[in-house]
Amino acid sequence: MGNVPFVSNNPKPTRNEALEYYRRVAQSFNLNINLFEEVIQVDRGQLTDDSRTSFTVKTSKSTYSCNNIIIATGFYDIPYLLNIPGEELPKVTHYYSDPHFYAFQDVVVVGAMNSAVDAALETYRKGANVTMIVKGDSIGSRVKYWVKPDIENRIKEGSIKAYFNASLKEIRPEDVDIETPDDLITLKNDWVIAATGYQPNLRFLEQVGIELSSDEVRCPTINQDTHETNIPGIYLAGVICGGMNTHRLFIENSREHAVKIMKDIAP
Ligand SMILES: Cc1cc2nc3c(=O)[nH]c(=O)nc-3n(C[C@H](O)[C@H](O)[C@H](O)COP(=O)(O)OP(=O)(O)OC[C@H]3O[C@@H](n4cnc5c(N)ncnc54)[C@H](O)[C@@H]3O)c2cc1C
Repeated sequence: MGNVPFVSNNPKPTRNEALEYYRRVAQSFNLNINLFEEVIQVDRGQLTDDSRTSFTVKTSKSTYSCNNIIIATGFYDIPYLLNIPGEELPKVTHYYSDPHFYAFQDVVVVGAMNSAVDAALETYRKGANVTMIVKGDSIGSRVKYWVKPDIENRIKEGSIKAYFNASLKEIRPEDVDIETPDDLITLKNDWVIAATGYQPNLRFLEQVGIELSSDEVRCPTINQDTHETNIPGIYLAGVICGGMNTHRLFIENSREHAVKIMKDIAP
């Protein structure tokens, strides 16, 4: 990014290497980052002397004025819920990060896409007793091609237990109920990692006045060359550009968004 080299000791960079790199990019460009501050509302003001719209951005901490806004809100803040009894228990999480936390304990992982597979493999390798609960009959076809054989072989050899065509029915402090094609199974359980996916906050875009397509993808309106929305001065970058199609854009193919936007804002 920004011509800052990314050095890795591995064929694929690890999460920690990526985080080091991103922080270094931010420091290199001396970016002004206001952490733990949520944008609540964006209001359009009057045209300025040079015929540009001014915006007022209200946040959880302050209010700002600006002529351009780039919205890059991703899709990670609103998880798809299981909507079953016990989901509110403190042992249930939709956000997995540290595998060591789960060592030597009984972990249920719900899902079969990238997040679920990463959580299952990593916690298993730190000593957790892992059971996957998969809605369909196989591991997701979009799981990273270099990871998929690993999880499939761990399931085949029995190191990680997996119930296919199955769903979690109830979570209790000591155990969980799993509906399988054969039976309702009760399993002793310490933690549930519900890797059931996330949805973008499209309501926020609508509140700002950005138009979304009427089909189920609900794609925001943007000019593909500049990433400007139907509101002059407001741009979109990253995963949010894909609407509900959250798997279409990822880090590698979103990096060009910022370049296009900045060419339009500051040619
Ligand atoms: C488990 C997992 C593994 C992944 N692995 C890979 C991988 O190996 N390679 C790859 O290319 N991609 C991977 N991805 C996808 C990658 O994380 C996303 O493509 C990328 O993070 C999207 O960047 P973004 O800037 O669009 O959104 P995000 O990275 O989601 O950033 C959005 C930010 O906006 C903040 N925000 C939202 N609303 C507001 C608001 N109202 N006010 C203020 N801030 C707000 C959010 O809190 C968040 O910090 C993975 C994703 C997951 C979940």
